[in-house]
Amino acid sequence: MSAVPCQMEYPVRYAGVSGASQPVPPLKLAVLESETVSTTAHAQRAASRGLPKPAAGFHRLEPMSELLEELQAASQRLESASPEEIIAWGVERYAPYLTMATAFGPEGCVILSMLARIAPETYVFNLETGYQFQETLDVRDRIAERYGIEVDLLRPELPIEEYEALHGGPLYRTNPNQCCFDRKIKTLQRASQVMHAWMSGIRRDQSADRAQAPIIGWDKKFGLVKISPLANWTKQDVWKRITDENIPYNPLHDQGYPSIGCWPCTRAVEVGETDERAGRWSGLRKTECGLHTISEQDGSGI
Ligand code: SF4
Repeated sequence: MSAVPCQMEYPVRYAGVSGASQPVPPLKLAVLESETVSTTAHAQRAASRGLPKPAAGFHRLEPMSELLEELQAASQRLESASPEEIIAWGVERYAPYLTMATAFGPEGCVILSMLARIAPETYVFNLETGYQFQETLDVRDRIAERYGIEVDLLRPELPIEEYEALHGGPLYRTNPNQCCFDRKIKTLQRASQVMHAWMSGIRRDQSADRAQAPIIGWDKKFGLVKISPLANWTKQDVWKRITDENIPYNPLHDQGYPSIGCWPCTRAVEVGETDERAGRWSGLRKTECGLHTISEQDGSGI
């Protein structure tokens, strides 16, 4: 199959790992069909292991008042705890029905480095939409080599070729909310059926949507306890840990991409853009894929 690269140039100035503002040369990014080809090749190398099967008698948690009170108390107690202590609490309380979803962002890589010391057997998955950057998928392999944690690639029901054929073309162009719902939310909903709790790498300082995130809370959308070990960390805290411990991270962060999602919906940030998520769904009012927002409708608000 011939690759038809789409050449995009972004003159950017990016804070990078060190936090110091530095010019970045114009980036030529080859995407579209060439990305699709390499993503498919990677997918063949890393076949999904699939979700673990729960033991007989497994029941999903119900948000009874007793549970909600327990979560609130734990969250308050852990407000000043370290991320490692928060993870250890989650493992102690919910393993083996504790999982983690990662898009291999810097926060996810930091949590994986901690999990490797605390509970490396934890089932960790990536929502493999079929539209991820090759650089993102490569982080999976580097994490596996470094920590021995094989992050599972959980895929939606339809591969992108069938999905796009069904909708007459890529839905991310015409209805990205539905695309995120079909390719991310539904997959996480599947995982939630066999789990009690999930960990995410969200930080309160990332966006207005995330500013109120508790350390431990009930996630109504997925019916899971949600644990956010890095809620109180800053971007600087995260990058300091990455540089101190030489934790693998996505090289696109050094090329002007502070926040990375699927390639069709991610661009590098531009000079003067201070919002680290400014390059996500740029030009649209959409700011989240829906994994970390409260709305429960099928696509709206995602
Ligand atoms: Fe689709 Fe874009 Fe959402 Fe990825 S981020 S699932 S390509 S709309």
